[in-house]
Amino acid sequence: MLEVFFLGTGGIMPTKERNVPAIALRYRGEIILFDAGEGTIRQMNTAKLSPMKVDKIFITHFHGDHYLGLGGLIQTMNLWNREKPLHIYGPKYTFELVQHFLNSGFFRPGFDIHVHELGETRLKFGDYEIWSFKVEHGIPALGYVFRERDRRGKFLPERLREYNLSEGPILGKLEREGKIEWKGRIIHLEDVTGPRRKGLKVVYTGDTEPTERVRLFAERADLLIHEATYLNPDDRGGSYHSTVKEACETAKRAKVKLLALFHRAFRYTYGEYSVEAAKICGGFNVNFIVPRDFDVITPKSDSWELRSLLEEGK
Ligand SMILES: [Zn+2]
Ligand SMILES: [Zn+2]
Repeated sequence: MLEVFFLGTGGIMPTKERNVPAIALRYRGEIILFDAGEGTIRQMNTAKLSPMKVDKIFITHFHGDHYLGLGGLIQTMNLWNREKPLHIYGPKYTFELVQHFLNSGFFRPGFDIHVHELGETRLKFGDYEIWSFKVEHGIPALGYVFRERDRRGKFLPERLREYNLSEGPILGKLEREGKIEWKGRIIHLEDVTGPRRKGLKVVYTGDTEPTERVRLFAERADLLIHEATYLNPDDRGGSYHSTVKEACETAKRAKVKLLALFHRAFRYTYGEYSVEAAKICGGFNVNFIVPRDFDVITPKSDSWELRSLLEEGK
């Protein structure tokens, strides 16, 4: 079960309506954080996500709106007597920058913080991998891919009957070991299961101007969270950001199932931005959402289901 929590969806600076970037993936009891803008601890508390369940934080780049919440998070973990280590991942210079940051106040974490500087790489964890890829933002900046391992196919009842296999511990053993000897026959897991199911793929660009790297890494993703700071290219000035149109183009070319338009500039209200985005993305025939803070999406059969924690809390 995977849940994607949009904790902060706005870019550059927080507004009354939305906070700065932070995305939490909850997967099998673990919370993986992508970016931690200022106030992320408040957003996590509101979403009832415990920072004690966070072991890994992936920072896309060191502009304030993407990392200034680290201090509050770490201090809260300390306050709650955290003992297990925390891993912080980011682009070149992450080590120096995190060290400076942690030295800026009168507190020392009572737990280990491991800092990992990444280029383009694949990190393997239990049931998933995290890939990092370089994006174009004028400073060292990364995008990330969460890639769930492919899962075994479903058990096929008719095949189970054929092999006289009943539900229960014996199936658990077959699943764990891949093959068993049963009633004088060797049975492989593939003998009684359907085709393997592809693991989920979620991609987060962080801040970037349009780049071919995103399309490459987002190929056939289930979800692409693409920064789309501006509605009009003229608003961009000299900044290294993308427009809604560019995010839609990339999503279309990469054949992603769902595009989340993220990091909109503070000048746009939600209403204005989503109406314009619908006009722009409509032309591309791309499935998209404009998430608000505290929206949560979960995969459901071949698409995603969206709910709002704020609506639920009313
Ligand atoms: Zn930003
Ligand atoms: Zn930035």
